[in-house]
Amino acid sequence: MSKYVTKLKIERCEKLDKQGYRRSKMQCKLDALLRRLPPQHEKYLQIESDLGKRRSGDFGENSIDYYLSQLSEVQDCIIVKGARLLLNKHHFQMDTLLLFPSFFILLETKHLTGTLLFDPDYQQLIQIKKEDINLEISRHDPILQVKMQYNQFKRWLANHNKEGYPGFCFVGVTNQNAIVKALSNPTLVQEFVVRSPALTFKINDILANQQPKRSTRFSPQEISFLITNHHAPRNVNILKDYNIGALEILTGVACPNCNKLAMEKLPRKWSCPFCKHQSKDAHISTLIDYSFLFGTSISIREVCRVLHINNIRSARRMINELSLKRIGTTYNSRYCLKSLVEQQNAPRLKGAFVNFVLLD
Ligand SMILES: [Zn+2]
Repeated sequence: MSKYVTKLKIERCEKLDKQGYRRSKMQCKLDALLRRLPPQHEKYLQIESDLGKRRSGDFGENSIDYYLSQLSEVQDCIIVKGARLLLNKHHFQMDTLLLFPSFFILLETKHLTGTLLFDPDYQQLIQIKKEDINLEISRHDPILQVKMQYNQFKRWLANHNKEGYPGFCFVGVTNQNAIVKALSNPTLVQEFVVRSPALTFKINDILANQQPKRSTRFSPQEISFLITNHHAPRNVNILKDYNIGALEILTGVACPNCNKLAMEKLPRKWSCPFCKHQSKDAHISTLIDYSFLFGTSISIREVCRVLHINNIRSARRMINELSLKRIGTTYNSRYCLKSLVEQQNAPRLKGAFVNFVLLD
């Protein structure tokens, strides 16, 4: 099965840090933007706060993945993360989708702090944070959200001649310190809301109950392949979203040690004027930052501008060493940066019995 999965055409844009923590493409974009914005910029604090929220969400996703990778005695399970599909001219997104031969499970994850009061009768979730217990924050009802996604996915499957694939949906609460309470309809809350450590038990229960009536079997590989082929990545233009001009972005090679801009070019290496750190390949992260902010191809003139190199031949030599794919004619050629982003990725997540397909 794993051989089949490796054949899937997957755009892997997540980066993993040294601990194996997976960052979403959006977190990578926000990271790159914040690193390259002057701290006194009017949008700096907003982006810093948005990055914090994204980090927390990604952390929740990673913790869910950890528990799912612990699923044992499961055969042929594929977990598809972050699929975005088109249904009747609108896209819908699914955080986590588990595909088994006899059923699927759709999971909407919430990584929220404080006390979470589920109120399905009024289609809301009220969050009370420890910092201000008098402030009630109203959020979308995740039970309603996941039920809507479930219906959309069922319709999408039917449109692709996959009718009758049974499924379940849950809301996964990933923050261990959050307090979960039901403000209304506790039976419904109990049925749909599950904390990450209990997730595997819930799945094993469903598996145990499903075994005797395995009349129709579906192929998780086939369905994950169908989803991957129809996945529509969001491709957020982050500069446009925050209304920030290209010239407001700071250029130069960021120091891998202290994160400051910009390192100085010495023959065959980079040197940080602040912490004296030296690096041979610090320009790679800068080119990756560029791809997250401006797009996946770059001209040699742009390479000189963003890396602060005034010698076009030296820039060309540096790019040639990276073996980037060249696009266009000699006069107008650009270099594709996708392979750099992919090289930074560690192998796809894998449990002993479970395969992950990461879309973003
Ligand atoms: Zn430094």
